[in-house]
Amino acid sequence: MKVGQYILSLDQGTTSSRAILFDAWGSIVGVGQKEFTQIYPQPGYVEHDAVEILESVLFAMRQAVAQSGISARDIAAIGITNQRETTVAWDAHTGLPICNAIVWQCRRTAAKCEELKKTEWVGYIKKTTGLLVDPYFSGTKMNWIMENIPTAKKLAEENRLCFGTIDTWLIYALTDRKTYVTDVSNASRTMLFDIRKLCWDDKLLNYLEIPRQALPKVVDSSGVIGYCEAAVLGEAIPIAGIAGDQHAALFGQCCFEKGMIKNTYGTGCFALMNTGTKPIDSENGLLTTIGWKIGDQVVYALEGSAFHAGSAIKWLRDELGIIQSAAECDQLAETVEDTGDVWFVPAFTGLGAPYWDMYARGALLGITRGTSKAHICRAVLESIAHESADLLRLFEEETGEKLCGFRVDGGASKSWFLMQFQADILKTKVEKPSCLETTALGAAMLAGLAVGVWENQEELSSIWQLGTEFLPDMPEERRNYRIQRWHKAVERSQNWVE
Ligand code: ADP
Repeated sequence: MKVGQYILSLDQGTTSSRAILFDAWGSIVGVGQKEFTQIYPQPGYVEHDAVEILESVLFAMRQAVAQSGISARDIAAIGITNQRETTVAWDAHTGLPICNAIVWQCRRTAAKCEELKKTEWVGYIKKTTGLLVDPYFSGTKMNWIMENIPTAKKLAEENRLCFGTIDTWLIYALTDRKTYVTDVSNASRTMLFDIRKLCWDDKLLNYLEIPRQALPKVVDSSGVIGYCEAAVLGEAIPIAGIAGDQHAALFGQCCFEKGMIKNTYGTGCFALMNTGTKPIDSENGLLTTIGWKIGDQVVYALEGSAFHAGSAIKWLRDELGIIQSAAECDQLAETVEDTGDVWFVPAFTGLGAPYWDMYARGALLGITRGTSKAHICRAVLESIAHESADLLRLFEEETGEKLCGFRVDGGASKSWFLMQFQADILKTKVEKPSCLETTALGAAMLAGLAVGVWENQEELSSIWQLGTEFLPDMPEERRNYRIQRWHKAVERSQNWVE
């Protein structure tokens, strides 16, 4: 470990851009943050202004460095992690976007995806890219731009069109257009990348009419790929780590061994399991993805997500108004012995794996005259744990191996009650690290490895610090009862929209 050297991690998220400066112990020495505009041009559409994103990143970088009081000369490298799948298109001659970025949440290609789902492409896409057909992924977004933005076709003919995810766009700009790359983890979310052969898939590019020369070179997640221009921070600094946000969190949680799992409790829940050097094809609707690539070694992961987690707590606060803050939900939940047999299912927009029911809707069941807001808060927190438990049990099914603990992060992992209940209901250990900024830390670790701030993964594992460990402590009978009732509640929420 090179003490005295620092890594600047850029965490470009969906609603804000953050920059965090880490020292060689993995401690935070400076933070910068800037929100940017969410653009909703019509129902179901979500866009960002890529230039505004870039400006917010520059602001956050400078703020983090200024706050730390550290000289740019002592920053050994920059790591980048980003909202995944969001797609930018720009002109190589001007370096300017030709339209707003299409955000991962945007559903504008839903019809195209429905059409695709009726063809044999579904099987091909699953086998080649590890993904299920969905508007989230960048491929159909690029296809939409080719079909709907007249400049795109023209620029493509002149070989000036550049497509990229946010990592690519930022690196292109920070290196003053010298470096046009993406890493394997971001590439594996485009629905265009062959996750076994590690290259863009020509058949999919042809089908979606995306010119191959409009795509970046795919590089490792750790390695110097270019230099952030001196104009940005006063010194040229190597950019040496790139990973999509969930992949970076898996790395930042030091889930380096096959079978290790992290679950992030943010707006939704994202669980990823390291499956080692071989991809596992899921039978249960989990996604197969690349965790990271370092040198010759590719690490694969299985990914499952629940659409609503922390957002259910926000719903209690903003729509029902029965709590003032997310932390109050936790406090109220602890004031009652149990939920009073009240059950909540957070299927606001349907249910994901393992149910895959887009017609399900949120449900609050078992209410009596004695039901209080404390019971409801407790039922909401329990529902988040049940959803995650359903996902994590799928990991067990896919690998045939029993869960032996997992690591957690994200805003809602601050809830003591939720984490203890999670350990109880899954009958496994839940480990919360002392640093919850695992996404930014993961990108910093990937960059720091490349420039020798850290020697190897063993050294990184030694800087990961356990904050709190939650051990299962619930009688078997009670656990089984709660699981069985949860599943009954899920059944009642299903197939609701006609
Ligand atoms: P994202 O990155 O998806 O925006 P975060 O990881 O920042 O999400 O987490 C935000 C979520 O965490 C919010 O939806 C909020 O409800 C939840 N949250 C924040 N603090 C607490 C708390 N003390 N207890 C429970 N939930 C919390």
